[in-house]
Amino acid sequence: MVPQDEARVSVHANALAYGAGTFEGIRAWWNAEHEELYLLEAAAHYARLERSARILGLRLPVPAAALVRLTAQLLRRNDVRSDAYVRPLLIQHGEVLTVRMHDIDTRLSIAVTPTPGDYIDPDGVRCMVSSWRRTPDSCTPNRAKVTGSYSGPSLAKTEALDHGFDEAIMLTVDGHVAEATTSNLFLRFGDEWVTPPGTDDILEGITRAQVMVLLEEATGKAAVQRRIQRSELYTCDEALLCGTAAIVVPVVEVDGRRVGDGAPGASTLLLGTTLRAIARRQDARHPEWTTPVYGEGVPA
Ligand code: PMP
Repeated sequence: MVPQDEARVSVHANALAYGAGTFEGIRAWWNAEHEELYLLEAAAHYARLERSARILGLRLPVPAAALVRLTAQLLRRNDVRSDAYVRPLLIQHGEVLTVRMHDIDTRLSIAVTPTPGDYIDPDGVRCMVSSWRRTPDSCTPNRAKVTGSYSGPSLAKTEALDHGFDEAIMLTVDGHVAEATTSNLFLRFGDEWVTPPGTDDILEGITRAQVMVLLEEATGKAAVQRRIQRSELYTCDEALLCGTAAIVVPVVEVDGRRVGDGAPGASTLLLGTTLRAIARRQDARHPEWTTPVYGEGVPA
Protein backbone atom coordinates (compact mmCIF):
# COMPACT_ATOMS: atom_id res chain seq x y z
CA MET A 1 0.00 0.00 0.00
CA VAL A 2 1.37 3.38 -1.02
CA PRO A 3 0.08 6.95 -0.77
CA GLN A 4 -1.91 7.90 -3.86
CA ASP A 5 0.81 10.35 -4.99
CA GLU A 6 3.25 7.47 -5.28
CA ALA A 7 0.91 5.25 -7.29
CA ARG A 8 2.02 6.34 -10.74
CA VAL A 9 2.08 5.03 -14.30
CA SER A 10 4.31 6.11 -17.15
CA VAL A 11 2.93 8.18 -20.03
CA HIS A 12 4.23 5.28 -22.16
CA ALA A 13 2.05 2.70 -20.40
CA ASN A 14 0.22 0.74 -23.10
CA ALA A 15 -3.07 1.11 -21.29
CA LEU A 16 -3.15 4.87 -21.83
CA ALA A 17 -2.93 4.93 -25.63
CA TYR A 18 -4.71 1.67 -26.37
CA GLY A 19 -7.32 1.51 -23.62
CA ALA A 20 -6.07 -1.95 -22.68
CA GLY A 21 -7.43 -2.38 -19.23
CA THR A 22 -10.48 -3.18 -17.20
CA PHE A 23 -11.88 -1.74 -14.01
CA GLU A 24 -14.64 -1.79 -11.43
CA GLY A 25 -16.47 0.72 -9.29
CA ILE A 26 -17.50 -0.52 -5.86
CA ARG A 27 -19.23 1.45 -3.14
CA ALA A 28 -18.73 1.23 0.59
CA TRP A 29 -21.57 2.46 2.78
CA TRP A 30 -21.07 3.89 6.27
CA ASN A 31 -23.56 3.12 9.03
CA ALA A 32 -22.99 5.62 11.87
CA GLU A 33 -25.18 3.69 14.32
CA HIS A 34 -23.24 0.45 13.75
CA GLU A 35 -19.97 2.41 13.38
CA GLU A 36 -19.38 0.10 10.48
CA LEU A 37 -18.50 0.40 6.82
CA TYR A 38 -20.10 -2.10 4.44
CA LEU A 39 -18.74 -3.02 1.03
CA LEU A 40 -21.64 -3.58 -1.35
CA GLU A 41 -21.40 -6.66 -3.56
CA ALA A 42 -17.59 -6.58 -3.53
CA ALA A 43 -17.31 -10.28 -4.41
CA ALA A 44 -19.64 -9.86 -7.40
CA HIS A 45 -17.63 -6.85 -8.64
CA TYR A 46 -14.35 -8.76 -8.39
CA ALA A 47 -15.89 -11.77 -10.11
CA ARG A 48 -16.87 -9.44 -12.98
CA LEU A 49 -13.33 -8.01 -13.02
CA GLU A 50 -12.04 -11.56 -13.37
CA ARG A 51 -14.46 -12.24 -16.27
CA SER A 52 -13.47 -8.95 -17.94
CA ALA A 53 -9.78 -9.88 -17.61
CA ARG A 54 -10.52 -13.31 -19.07
CA ILE A 55 -12.29 -11.77 -22.09
CA LEU A 56 -9.35 -9.44 -22.70
CA GLY A 57 -6.78 -12.15 -22.06
CA LEU A 58 -5.21 -10.13 -19.24
CA ARG A 59 -4.09 -11.88 -16.09
CA LEU A 60 -5.61 -10.96 -12.74
CA PRO A 61 -2.62 -11.36 -10.37
CA VAL A 62 -4.69 -12.21 -7.28
CA PRO A 63 -7.78 -14.44 -7.09
CA ALA A 64 -11.03 -12.50 -6.95
CA ALA A 65 -11.85 -13.76 -3.41
CA ALA A 66 -8.59 -12.38 -1.98
CA LEU A 67 -9.35 -8.96 -3.46
CA VAL A 68 -12.34 -8.47 -1.16
CA ARG A 69 -10.00 -9.02 1.82
CA LEU A 70 -7.40 -6.63 0.37
CA THR A 71 -10.05 -3.96 -0.22
CA ALA A 72 -11.27 -4.21 3.39
CA GLN A 73 -7.65 -3.89 4.57
CA LEU A 74 -7.14 -0.83 2.38
CA LEU A 75 -10.23 0.87 3.81
CA ARG A 76 -9.10 0.07 7.36
CA ARG A 77 -5.58 1.31 6.66
CA ASN A 78 -7.08 4.62 5.48
CA ASP A 79 -9.45 4.62 8.47
CA VAL A 80 -12.34 5.40 6.13
CA ARG A 81 -15.41 6.18 8.21
CA SER A 82 -17.70 7.64 5.58
CA ASP A 83 -19.28 6.45 2.36
CA ALA A 84 -16.50 5.66 -0.08
CA TYR A 85 -15.84 4.66 -3.65
CA VAL A 86 -13.37 1.90 -4.48
CA ARG A 87 -11.75 1.76 -7.91
CA PRO A 88 -9.95 -1.48 -8.86
CA LEU A 89 -8.06 -1.06 -12.13
CA LEU A 90 -6.20 -3.74 -14.08
CA ILE A 91 -4.08 -2.20 -16.84
CA GLN A 92 -1.29 -2.91 -19.26
CA HIS A 93 1.35 -1.12 -17.28
CA GLY A 94 4.17 -2.23 -19.63
CA GLU A 95 5.66 0.21 -22.15
CA VAL A 96 5.72 -1.89 -25.30
CA LEU A 97 4.07 0.71 -27.55
CA THR A 98 2.37 -1.84 -29.73
CA VAL A 99 -1.14 -3.27 -29.80
CA ARG A 100 -1.54 -6.74 -28.36
CA MET A 101 -3.02 -8.23 -25.23
CA HIS A 102 -0.39 -10.87 -24.48
CA ASP A 103 3.08 -10.59 -22.93
CA ILE A 104 2.78 -7.09 -21.57
CA ASP A 105 3.29 -6.38 -17.86
CA THR A 106 -0.11 -5.99 -16.26
CA ARG A 107 -0.73 -4.30 -12.90
CA LEU A 108 -3.70 -4.16 -10.61
CA SER A 109 -4.33 -1.13 -8.43
CA ILE A 110 -7.12 -0.51 -5.96
CA ALA A 111 -7.79 3.09 -4.97
CA VAL A 112 -10.18 4.48 -2.39
CA THR A 113 -11.97 7.83 -2.54
CA PRO A 114 -14.25 9.03 0.23
CA THR A 115 -17.42 10.33 -1.40
CA PRO A 116 -20.25 12.55 -0.23
CA GLY A 117 -23.46 10.78 0.81
CA ASP A 118 -26.36 9.80 -1.35
CA TYR A 119 -26.71 10.83 -4.95
CA ILE A 120 -30.22 11.01 -6.26
CA ASP A 121 -32.15 13.51 -8.26
CA PRO A 122 -35.58 13.24 -6.65
CA ASP A 123 -37.15 14.96 -9.63
CA GLY A 124 -35.78 12.24 -11.87
CA VAL A 125 -33.62 12.44 -14.96
CA ARG A 126 -34.55 13.65 -18.45
CA CYS A 127 -32.98 11.44 -21.11
CA MET A 128 -32.37 11.63 -24.85
CA VAL A 129 -31.67 8.71 -27.14
CA SER A 130 -28.09 9.23 -28.21
CA SER A 131 -26.87 9.29 -31.79
CA TRP A 132 -23.83 7.36 -30.47
CA ARG A 133 -24.38 3.60 -30.35
CA ARG A 134 -22.99 0.81 -28.16
CA THR A 135 -20.07 -1.14 -29.61
CA PRO A 136 -21.24 -4.59 -30.72
CA ASP A 137 -19.72 -7.69 -29.11
CA SER A 138 -17.80 -8.22 -32.35
CA CYS A 139 -15.93 -4.92 -31.86
CA THR A 140 -15.34 -4.32 -28.16
CA PRO A 141 -17.45 -6.60 -25.96
CA ASN A 142 -19.46 -4.67 -23.39
CA ARG A 143 -19.75 -7.75 -21.23
CA ALA A 144 -16.25 -6.74 -20.15
CA LYS A 145 -15.84 -3.41 -18.38
CA VAL A 146 -13.00 -2.22 -20.62
CA THR A 147 -11.33 1.14 -19.98
CA GLY A 148 -11.20 1.90 -23.72
CA SER A 149 -14.95 1.36 -24.12
CA TYR A 150 -15.83 4.53 -22.28
CA SER A 151 -15.15 7.02 -25.06
CA GLY A 152 -18.53 6.10 -26.61
CA PRO A 153 -20.52 6.74 -23.42
CA SER A 154 -18.49 9.93 -22.83
CA LEU A 155 -19.49 11.24 -26.27
CA ALA A 156 -23.11 10.27 -25.58
CA LYS A 157 -23.15 11.99 -22.18
CA THR A 158 -21.66 15.19 -23.61
CA GLU A 159 -24.16 15.15 -26.47
CA ALA A 160 -27.03 14.76 -23.98
CA LEU A 161 -25.80 17.60 -21.73
CA ASP A 162 -25.17 19.83 -24.77
CA HIS A 163 -28.81 19.30 -25.77
CA GLY A 164 -30.10 20.17 -22.32
CA PHE A 165 -30.79 16.62 -21.11
CA ASP A 166 -29.40 14.91 -17.99
CA GLU A 167 -28.47 11.54 -19.44
CA ALA A 168 -28.21 9.56 -22.67
CA ILE A 169 -29.84 6.25 -23.55
CA MET A 170 -27.72 4.31 -26.01
CA LEU A 171 -28.97 1.86 -28.63
CA THR A 172 -27.28 -1.17 -30.14
CA VAL A 173 -25.96 -0.76 -33.69
CA ASP A 174 -29.19 -2.35 -34.98
CA GLY A 175 -31.31 0.10 -33.01
CA HIS A 176 -32.44 -1.77 -29.91
CA VAL A 177 -32.40 -0.11 -26.52
CA ALA A 178 -29.25 -1.04 -24.60
CA GLU A 179 -28.51 1.13 -21.56
CA ALA A 180 -27.56 4.59 -20.34
CA THR A 181 -23.93 5.77 -20.25
CA THR A 182 -23.00 4.11 -16.95
CA SER A 183 -26.23 2.55 -15.78
CA ASN A 184 -28.74 -0.10 -16.86
CA LEU A 185 -32.35 0.54 -17.80
CA PHE A 186 -35.65 -1.01 -16.70
CA LEU A 187 -39.11 -0.17 -18.09
CA ARG A 188 -42.49 -1.03 -16.59
CA PHE A 189 -45.57 -1.83 -18.67
CA GLY A 190 -48.52 -2.38 -16.33
CA ASP A 191 -47.32 -4.97 -13.83
CA GLU A 192 -44.45 -6.20 -15.99
CA TRP A 193 -40.87 -4.93 -15.74
CA VAL A 194 -38.56 -5.44 -18.71
CA THR A 195 -34.84 -4.87 -19.19
CA PRO A 196 -32.55 -5.45 -22.19
CA PRO A 197 -30.79 -8.83 -22.23
CA GLY A 198 -27.04 -9.31 -21.71
CA THR A 199 -26.78 -10.08 -25.43
CA ASP A 200 -27.81 -6.52 -26.38
CA ASP A 201 -24.38 -4.99 -25.79
CA ILE A 202 -24.89 -3.89 -22.21
CA LEU A 203 -22.61 -4.19 -19.24
CA GLU A 204 -24.53 -6.60 -17.04
CA GLY A 205 -24.71 -4.47 -13.92
CA ILE A 206 -24.44 -5.79 -10.39
CA THR A 207 -27.18 -3.30 -9.42
CA ARG A 208 -29.28 -4.60 -12.34
CA ALA A 209 -29.10 -8.08 -10.78
CA GLN A 210 -30.07 -6.67 -7.37
CA VAL A 211 -33.01 -4.77 -8.88
CA MET A 212 -34.20 -8.00 -10.53
CA VAL A 213 -34.11 -9.78 -7.16
CA LEU A 214 -35.91 -6.94 -5.34
CA LEU A 215 -38.56 -6.60 -8.07
CA GLU A 216 -39.31 -10.29 -7.95
CA GLU A 217 -39.54 -10.19 -4.14
CA ALA A 218 -41.83 -7.15 -4.24
CA THR A 219 -44.13 -8.22 -7.06
CA GLY A 220 -43.84 -12.02 -7.08
CA LYS A 221 -43.02 -11.74 -10.75
CA ALA A 222 -39.59 -11.88 -12.41
CA ALA A 223 -38.50 -8.98 -14.60
CA VAL A 224 -38.34 -10.06 -18.23
CA GLN A 225 -35.06 -9.76 -20.12
CA ARG A 226 -35.98 -9.07 -23.74
CA ARG A 227 -35.10 -6.88 -26.69
CA ILE A 228 -36.62 -3.43 -26.34
CA GLN A 229 -37.47 -1.13 -29.22
CA ARG A 230 -36.90 2.61 -29.11
CA SER A 231 -40.60 3.48 -29.35
CA GLU A 232 -41.23 1.50 -26.16
CA LEU A 233 -39.32 4.19 -24.30
CA TYR A 234 -42.21 6.49 -25.25
CA THR A 235 -45.04 4.16 -24.18
CA CYS A 236 -43.86 2.63 -20.87
CA ASP A 237 -45.56 3.47 -17.58
CA GLU A 238 -42.36 3.83 -15.55
CA ALA A 239 -38.62 3.84 -16.27
CA LEU A 240 -35.52 3.69 -14.11
CA LEU A 241 -31.76 3.67 -14.39
CA CYS A 242 -29.61 1.69 -11.98
CA GLY A 243 -25.91 1.34 -11.28
CA THR A 244 -23.30 1.57 -8.56
CA ALA A 245 -23.09 5.37 -8.80
CA ALA A 246 -26.72 6.07 -9.67
CA ILE A 247 -28.19 3.43 -7.31
CA VAL A 248 -31.75 3.68 -8.67
CA VAL A 249 -32.86 6.84 -10.46
CA PRO A 250 -36.29 7.59 -11.92
CA VAL A 251 -36.46 8.54 -15.61
CA VAL A 252 -39.19 11.12 -16.04
CA GLU A 253 -38.75 12.07 -19.68
CA VAL A 254 -37.29 10.55 -22.88
CA ASP A 255 -36.78 12.63 -26.03
CA GLY A 256 -39.17 15.28 -24.73
CA ARG A 257 -41.98 12.79 -24.02
CA ARG A 258 -43.11 12.31 -20.43
CA VAL A 259 -42.69 8.85 -18.94
CA GLY A 260 -46.02 7.86 -17.37
CA ASP A 261 -47.45 11.02 -15.81
CA GLY A 262 -44.00 12.64 -15.71
CA ALA A 263 -43.51 12.13 -11.96
CA PRO A 264 -40.85 9.78 -10.50
CA GLY A 265 -42.28 6.27 -10.35
CA ALA A 266 -43.41 5.06 -6.93
CA SER A 267 -41.80 1.62 -7.29
CA THR A 268 -38.58 3.24 -8.49
CA LEU A 269 -38.39 5.46 -5.40
CA LEU A 270 -39.12 2.49 -3.14
CA LEU A 271 -36.40 0.42 -4.84
CA GLY A 272 -33.88 3.21 -4.26
CA THR A 273 -34.77 3.53 -0.58
CA THR A 274 -34.66 -0.24 -0.10
CA LEU A 275 -31.33 -0.69 -1.83
CA ARG A 276 -29.72 2.10 0.21
CA ALA A 277 -31.05 0.62 3.46
CA ILE A 278 -29.74 -2.84 2.51
CA ALA A 279 -26.35 -1.31 1.61
CA ARG A 280 -26.06 0.21 5.11
CA ARG A 281 -27.60 -2.89 6.75
CA GLN A 282 -30.45 -0.78 8.06
CA ASP A 283 -32.68 -3.34 6.36
CA ALA A 284 -32.11 -6.95 7.37
CA ARG A 285 -32.72 -8.35 3.90
CA HIS A 286 -29.81 -9.69 1.82
CA PRO A 287 -26.91 -9.42 4.30
CA GLU A 288 -25.03 -11.57 1.76
CA TRP A 289 -24.77 -8.45 -0.45
CA THR A 290 -22.66 -6.57 2.11
CA THR A 291 -19.26 -7.18 3.73
CA PRO A 292 -18.35 -5.39 6.97
CA VAL A 293 -14.94 -3.72 6.90
CA TYR A 294 -14.23 -3.21 10.63
CA GLY A 295 -16.27 -5.41 12.95
CA GLU A 296 -17.88 -8.79 13.12
CA GLY A 297 -17.60 -10.95 10.03
CA VAL A 298 -14.68 -8.93 8.67
CA PRO A 299 -12.79 -10.97 6.11
CA ALA A 300 -9.43 -12.11 7.57
N1 PMP B 1 -23.41 0.01 -17.67
C1 PMP B 1 -22.20 0.60 -17.76
C2 PMP B 1 -21.65 0.91 -19.10
C3 PMP B 1 -21.49 0.93 -16.59
O1 PMP B 1 -20.30 1.53 -16.67
C4 PMP B 1 -22.06 0.64 -15.32
C5 PMP B 1 -21.33 1.01 -14.07
N2 PMP B 1 -20.44 -0.01 -13.68
C6 PMP B 1 -23.31 0.00 -15.30
C7 PMP B 1 -23.96 -0.29 -16.48
C8 PMP B 1 -23.94 -0.39 -14.00
O2 PMP B 1 -23.24 -1.49 -13.47
P1 PMP B 1 -23.13 -1.73 -11.90
O3 PMP B 1 -24.51 -1.83 -11.38
O4 PMP B 1 -22.38 -3.01 -11.79
O5 PMP B 1 -22.39 -0.57 -11.34
